[in-house]
Amino acid sequence: MESVIQEKGNLSIHTENIFPIIKKFLYSDHEIFLRELVSNAVDASQKIKKLASYGEYNGELGDLKVVVKLDKDAKTITISDNGIGMTADEIKKYINQIAFSGATEFVEQYKDKGEGDKGIIGHFGLGFYSAYMVAQNVEIITKSYKEGAEPVRWECDGSTEFEISSVEKEERGTDIILHIAEDSEEFLEESRLRGILEKYGKFLPIEIEFEDKVINNPSPIWTKSPSDLNDEDYLAFYKELYPFGEDPLFWIHLNVDYPFNLTGVLYFPKLRNDFSGQREKIQLYSRQVFITDEVKDIVPDFLQLLHGVIDSPDIPLNVSRSYLQADGNVKKINGYITRKVADKLLEIFKNDREGFEKKFDDIGLFVKYGIISDDKFYEKAKDFCLLKNTDGKYFTFEEYREQVKENQTDKNESLIWLYTSDEKKQDAFIQSAKKRSYDVLVLNSMIDSHFINALEQKLEKVQVKRVDADTLDKLVEKEVKLESILSSDDQEKVKKVFEGVSENKTAHITVEAMPVDELPVVITFPEFMRRMTDMQASSGQRSMFGDMPLMYTVSLNSNHPLIGKIAGSESEDEQNALAKQVYDLALLSQGMLSGNDLTQFIQRTVSTLS
Ligand code: ADP
Repeated sequence: MESVIQEKGNLSIHTENIFPIIKKFLYSDHEIFLRELVSNAVDASQKIKKLASYGEYNGELGDLKVVVKLDKDAKTITISDNGIGMTADEIKKYINQIAFSGATEFVEQYKDKGEGDKGIIGHFGLGFYSAYMVAQNVEIITKSYKEGAEPVRWECDGSTEFEISSVEKEERGTDIILHIAEDSEEFLEESRLRGILEKYGKFLPIEIEFEDKVINNPSPIWTKSPSDLNDEDYLAFYKELYPFGEDPLFWIHLNVDYPFNLTGVLYFPKLRNDFSGQREKIQLYSRQVFITDEVKDIVPDFLQLLHGVIDSPDIPLNVSRSYLQADGNVKKINGYITRKVADKLLEIFKNDREGFEKKFDDIGLFVKYGIISDDKFYEKAKDFCLLKNTDGKYFTFEEYREQVKENQTDKNESLIWLYTSDEKKQDAFIQSAKKRSYDVLVLNSMIDSHFINALEQKLEKVQVKRVDADTLDKLVEKEVKLESILSSDDQEKVKKVFEGVSENKTAHITVEAMPVDELPVVITFPEFMRRMTDMQASSGQRSMFGDMPLMYTVSLNSNHPLIGKIAGSESEDEQNALAKQVYDLALLSQGMLSGNDLTQFIQRTVSTLS
């Protein structure tokens, strides 16, 4: 049939040519044209289904699907649906007028803005026009579901002129034919096109066919009711999202429809201590259309280690970051997710303490991160966050407070919680603390130095000290204060000897009465210094102390026979040699002896033994 032109007209727009502007501003990612057009086709299919269910459409629904076709020779991409279609009047209304008035508004509002506001136009319902980011010419061939509706053809080559003509089309629905522009021919590659379709359309609710194959799963689990799902379903879906991922620990099915609409499934993955590279695993959808895996503003920072899917039609899309942050819904969603996660953790903790303890090495990271960064989360997490001691026993904060109280009798003083950051290296200190019946916690992950700070700020009357901090002796009243065997003159004498052999002139040397079976010399650090170096190490910075000697305390055990021997010796050489040797031993047990000092120490030891 010869096409008869029914109408020619000018698009009502002030700007000479809107298309260069669309190309530049519409979306920073040109590939999004496919998301927009396929979404429109899916919407049209959903609409006909709805109309049929309301009894407003009585014809055959048929097999509703969207077909994407590539013709490399003709340089076209065609998106076809058998949805509601459009009448000529509807084309004029929805494609010509509404879109262009939106476009005018857009141009007016953003003509002075820079590139920073890219991606804003979706707000104005200009999805269809994103076709012009990649096409030099677009045809719409459509036939409405309405009885007696004539099929129509619309065409526009990117100037402000459009054309509507008659056309032949048997089936209800719409074909959008894109004549791809020269600078966008990358989209004519089959693998590129398939990649984009799979990225945005993997879970669209209507079947999407490309090269005779369905590329999507139209009913992903987050659209179903939790009561219809079992563990296998959740695990299978996890594999669908992350084919190479290890099985997750557990999951939360999100489902809320007031005051905003949100569904989704969040998974707790097994985490290694190092969580770099684990981010951006949560995918954001809007009505099953993939939007982004950058969920920075929607999901609280500490939960971005989770995996899974969130679907909400209420999250404003394609708008600038600052707008998103200020959006009321986004804030509420953020709070809701935090609350759900905390409730789920509390539930597991209450129902299955043993299982929870087993998982805690993995989820501890989320929980601690949450406690550090989110006060609302802390309010709930303080009842289920666990602390593990060197015997592998777990305690809640309250349980631990009770446990520690037993040994620390002065009820008016702050309790001191001891921890080790490295069980192997600090073994001597752990043993000595245990000998005095103190408990020692294991806090050895990357996040723990920050977690410890948070604990001290949040828990009343608790100080947290590393097991080799210089406070051990002041802990308890219960312990009998030891008498020193050495006279005070002798104490002064050994102190002088050690000051003489100490190469670190900032080291603070003290004499203390400790049990006989303690080491003769013990080196400890002020807790603040320890934390500074820990934090720097965890943030990958070099020590800010540079080559400055470290500040530490050297405690001489006045009850140890070796210290007694130094005090009793008449020979200065012998005094110095002995002192040097036990000093180096103390340095060695703190991992502070290296290089030439270590070699000399070993040589001296060997020659003493032979
Ligand atoms: P939005 O989808 O945000 O409304 P679009 O520019 O993408 O904006 O589309 C404008 C309108 O054109 C749609 O609301 C719809 O009424 C109509 N439309 C677009 N594509 C189709 C299609 N494939 N089938 C039927 N109607 C369509």
